[in-house]
Amino acid sequence: MKVAVVKETAPGERRVALAPETVPKLTAAGLEVLVEQGAGNGAWFPDSAYSEAGAAIVRTDDLYATADVILTVTRPDQAQLGKLRAGQTVVGMLSPLTDPQLAKDLADKQVTAVSLDGLPRTLSRAQSMDALTSQASVAGYKAVLLAAAAYGRFFPLLITAAGTARPAKLLVLGAGVAGLQAIGTARRLGAQVSGYDVRPASKGEVESLGAAFIELTSVGSAAGEGGYARELTADERQAQQEELTAHIARHDVVITTAQVPGRRPPLLITEDAVKAMTAGSVIVDMGASPLGGNVAGSVPGETVVTENGVTVIGAQNLPSTVPTASSNAYSRNISALLLHMVADGELKIDTSDEIQSGVVVTHDGQVVHPAVAKLLDGEGGH
Ligand code: NAD
Repeated sequence: MKVAVVKETAPGERRVALAPETVPKLTAAGLEVLVEQGAGNGAWFPDSAYSEAGAAIVRTDDLYATADVILTVTRPDQAQLGKLRAGQTVVGMLSPLTDPQLAKDLADKQVTAVSLDGLPRTLSRAQSMDALTSQASVAGYKAVLLAAAAYGRFFPLLITAAGTARPAKLLVLGAGVAGLQAIGTARRLGAQVSGYDVRPASKGEVESLGAAFIELTSVGSAAGEGGYARELTADERQAQQEELTAHIARHDVVITTAQVPGRRPPLLITEDAVKAMTAGSVIVDMGASPLGGNVAGSVPGETVVTENGVTVIGAQNLPSTVPTASSNAYSRNISALLLHMVADGELKIDTSDEIQSGVVVTHDGQVVHPAVAKLLDGEGGH
């Protein structure tokens, strides 16, 4: 079976689905690895590193003509879709719940689609395949570095002959995978760190990293299914925003990571909360999206300085800005999933398997993932 690694085409995307160090794992399982010319350049993996690891470097058209399985980081673009053939399989982070039309297009082309973002996350045997976790962790780390670089003071307490600098007070809103990594990174840089989340389980995790946990009196638990948060009601949301404002105002740096599956990111920092911060404060909105983020006025991929001197950084694809680390981690995730699905050198689709039932989106010309099929039905699609 030929497994091919494509060069990512999304603007600014520097990651690659497979790192050279993972090639021998696949070849040892009897798979042949093809790599599109220059696929690893953005992550500092030259073609020669792949050849030395046992992969064949191929031209784009040859790759699509011969591959059985195609590994990607994000969704294929229109040109790539046009090159896919019936019987091929695409494995990547395809976001079928936000982009169900892609699933329909792939099903219509008789292409099997496997999406890592559907992985059941609480299964311990699937942890090595969890790309959402590995990429969120890279993003949480980088968000702190962006904040530190934009902040006009030091993060740590510094006692020097020229005087004493107090440590920065940093608040992390949303203490999931990205938030906990941000807390750990900010602590290592010497900031005084607090964390907040609507899931009560996160309190112990925040405190075990040496940060203070903020509890709100006006909002109770909003733990949802599968370890995720549920969406707050309008009343809860307003109470949360109001009570958070006072906490936000006494911090120098705030990093927001809040997400609710299938919903737009919740607004945690209102315009009034931004106005209540002092000049020189920094906010990094990891929830920034075209639909709006965790912070009023944040723009994905842009840094905005407000009239009262607050720098609001709208994060966009932070994992791609740490491309070697994020690609290495993703490569381990995708190869672990692929090897889980391969038996005797062939891909065996089996949706009765708990892992496969989460990740297999299309097969045999059908959208087989129930949640994606339901979305398409709702749109009058499949
Ligand atoms: P996520 O990206 O969906 O959300 C980030 C955080 O935002 C979450 O902690 C969520 O509770 C929080 N949040 C949502 N709405 C909020 C609001 N209004 N105010 C404040 N915070 C809000 O979450 P994630 O990082 O993917 O993690 C989700 C869960 O999955 C966590 O419980 C995590 O521990 C768990 N998880 C488990 C495993 C495993 O068991 N193998 C692996 C990965 C993640």
